[in-house]
Amino acid sequence: MRFDVLTLFPEMFPGYMSQSLLNKAIEGQLVDVQVHNLRDWATDKHQKIDDRPFGGGPGMILMVEPVVNSVRAVQKMAQPKGKIVMMTPSGRRLDQKFVEELAVEPRLILLCGRYEGFDQRVTDILHPIEVSIGDYILNGGEVAAMVMIDSLVRMVPGVLGDEQSSWDDSFSRGNRMLEYPQYTRPREFEGLEVPEILLSGNHGEIERWRKAKSLENTRLRRSDLIEE
Ligand code: SAM
Repeated sequence: MRFDVLTLFPEMFPGYMSQSLLNKAIEGQLVDVQVHNLRDWATDKHQKIDDRPFGGGPGMILMVEPVVNSVRAVQKMAQPKGKIVMMTPSGRRLDQKFVEELAVEPRLILLCGRYEGFDQRVTDILHPIEVSIGDYILNGGEVAAMVMIDSLVRMVPGVLGDEQSSWDDSFSRGNRMLEYPQYTRPREFEGLEVPEILLSGNHGEIERWRKAKSLENTRLRRSDLIEE
């Protein structure tokens, strides 16, 4: 799966990309992440990319021409052209179902906004998939793009080893249950013991206990999931 990230702050990405699963996926050529500086498509000598909003109001707006040009140029850099994704609080809220829908795409071009966001004509011309990572406002789309990449790479075959399979994850594959509690060594810490059943070796009983705990957790913390 290939990601092209269009941002005014490309320096935010190398640290994230050089760690853990994403780094391994990149090195193993399962995932490719290319980061591009929107400013490279500025049309004036000062590399201006934003301007004041027509009609007045606070802040600056990302200009339509450099943004549209950047997306068209990046699309031509590889095959397939890829789907365009705009990070915006007005978009469809990202959840595991949405992640699984997007995970079938071989290439995504992620547009990260800044300031007061994009000129409306970027949306009107490019018809991006608009994605929000939640009902709150970030300073920019970069962290939102990292959230998307992070959730999507888990879906790419081969990225997670067996021991880290996403099969059991809360919310995966239409699963409406939260995960059951997990424990590792030591068996006792500050008087708190690992539930006896997990040490029993009885896989059928362990499975039943986990299902019951999943249900209990979901009822307690996210009863909305059960109602849905
Ligand atoms: N004025 C915009 C509004 O009220 O919707 C907010 C702009 S925000 C300060 C700047 C950029 O951060 C946005 O263009 C978008 O790319 C990104 N952003 C902020 N919150 C986001 C969220 N919840 N999900 C995805 N992207 C977000």
